[in-house]
Amino acid sequence: MAYAYDDQNVFAKILRDEIPCRKVLETGHTLAFEDIRPLAPVHVLVIPKGAYVNFDHFGAEASAEEIADFTRTVARLCADLGVAPGGEGNGYRLIANAGTAGVQEVPHLHFHILGGRVLGPMLVRRD
Ligand code: AMP
Repeated sequence: MAYAYDDQNVFAKILRDEIPCRKVLETGHTLAFEDIRPLAPVHVLVIPKGAYVNFDHFGAEASAEEIADFTRTVARLCADLGVAPGGEGNGYRLIANAGTAGVQEVPHLHFHILGGRVLGPMLVRRD
């Protein structure tokens, strides 16, 4: 697998503080901020600070420390945002789009945390 990372993508610019974001949480390896076009009452994006194009790139090449930090941060956000069903929340959906078929708009790995309402079916059937 060979991925070329485009350091001019919008999330790379956010990480370099070249454009602003509505920050939710930051750790040593991870940044979370509000999606600029929210699709649900809770819509937060979580990105690793490292230059990874998508999840399979991250899973293959990130350090154990980066992966642990990212995963723990997603879990902490689900709790902090009040959507974790193990707490007071009603649940959430995690989405990580990749590539053309996944309709990925920004080529820097990001998880969408969506919640705050019943989100409906995962996908609409085409058949
Ligand atoms: P995806 O289609 O999975 O690549 O999703 C990219 C997401 O990034 C979309 O939900 C956009 O609304 C969001 N987005 C694009 N630019 C920004 C930005 N400057 N700040 C916050 N979210 C953004």
